[in-house]
Amino acid sequence: MPLLIRNGEIVTSTDRYVADIFIADETVTAIGPSLPAPGGTEVIDATGKLVFPGFIDPHVHIHLPFMGTFAKDDYRTASTAALVGGTTTLIEMCCPSRGEDAMEQYRIWKAKAAGLSACDYTFHMAVTRYDAATEAQLREIVADGTASFKIFLSYKNFFGVDDGEMYQTLKLARELGVIVTAHCENAELVSRLQQELIAAGKTGPEWHEPSRPEVVEAEGTTRFATFLETTGATGYVVHLSCEPALQAALAARARGVKIAVESVLPHFLLDKTYAAREGVEGLKYVMSPPLREKRNQAVLWAALEAGEIDTVGTDHCPFDLEQKLLGKDAFTLIPNGIPGLEDRVNLMYTYGVSRGGLSLNRFVDALSTRAAKLFGLYPRKGEIAVGSDADLVVYDPAYRGAISAKTQHMNCDYSGFEGVAIDGRPDVVTVRGRVQVRGGAFVGEYGHGEFLRRKPPVEGANAG
Ligand SMILES: [Zn+2]
Repeated sequence: MPLLIRNGEIVTSTDRYVADIFIADETVTAIGPSLPAPGGTEVIDATGKLVFPGFIDPHVHIHLPFMGTFAKDDYRTASTAALVGGTTTLIEMCCPSRGEDAMEQYRIWKAKAAGLSACDYTFHMAVTRYDAATEAQLREIVADGTASFKIFLSYKNFFGVDDGEMYQTLKLARELGVIVTAHCENAELVSRLQQELIAAGKTGPEWHEPSRPEVVEAEGTTRFATFLETTGATGYVVHLSCEPALQAALAARARGVKIAVESVLPHFLLDKTYAAREGVEGLKYVMSPPLREKRNQAVLWAALEAGEIDTVGTDHCPFDLEQKLLGKDAFTLIPNGIPGLEDRVNLMYTYGVSRGGLSLNRFVDALSTRAAKLFGLYPRKGEIAVGSDADLVVYDPAYRGAISAKTQHMNCDYSGFEGVAIDGRPDVVTVRGRVQVRGGAFVGEYGHGEFLRRKPPVEGANAG
């Protein structure tokens, strides 16, 4: 059924104006004042509401075998949560471990989403080993439309690659026009510091941060940038958490290295004191890079507004409390990660735009448009324009509520943001013209979500 979104305030990464949006089939076909509504058109009154391009979460884990257990979501729960929270496209990390066959795992990851997702999705392919057979598979995977890689400089012997493998991955990426996302921490230093802390009886979750201090992340970021500079590849630092790492990325960018920066939701709002809370509370807040000294939050917000931080993702990674308790006697055994897919848009809107200094245009850019540009989805995604996919979020800025595990759709028995107030929420959400959320509730169809094939070369970093 054609759809007319009437009288909303359209906000993109560059514009802000009141107009109607007409949707036929899967795309936006007209934008303007007082558009006609032919018979059979569903009209949605968006008066007093904001209309955003569907948000894109560039860093999500759904199927994830990690530290001896599996993250809890499947595509049904994750895509429901994404849509209720305004995210219409997610990019999942496909993460085989070092000993596994890349192509076999890629097929498993794709099969977990096929026919089940309610939102659109695509993947970053993790390169966790580099040899001739893997290289041939990576070429096939890129040809299949998965036009971005992920490497881990940390997680030695599991996900991690050594410097030689990083070099080879970047050379291949350069040849294919593929962007490489990277988890930047020094694996050797993390491993040594972990062993020393545990040996000294420092086993609680509050010791996770000291085992991977800010300098360890800054080193990883610097080294990644050096390898980008040497190979000419385009890179993207995932979940950057602190000022020294930011300075490393910006110094590289200033000398012409093509490097984009992502920070993730928890680091804007939470700090390392959360991991020092009593009992299971502290375990909830263990992730890598870890929550930092609070002073970093102001640095991240300022860099976000300035566009120095390109995107905001979540690193959504739901392990439940029983799983978190696997690490109650040693912080090195706590499954890393926190859920956030459902909350990113509302929390960044509330504490960035509504109560902070983040402009609405930069908010849209960082949570949608910039990711679309970096990962080869623009202008199909990340934009409100004639011809773009009709992925739209009609956002109600007058809504008042609070986050709670009791009402969330993510398959996790806690929220790291329990009781935190939100100023606004998505009222209606469409995915390629189909209403998937109405009145804030999921009314969607599973299987409507499509695998998005992306073509290299993707647009380089710093082009936005
Ligand atoms: Zn991640």
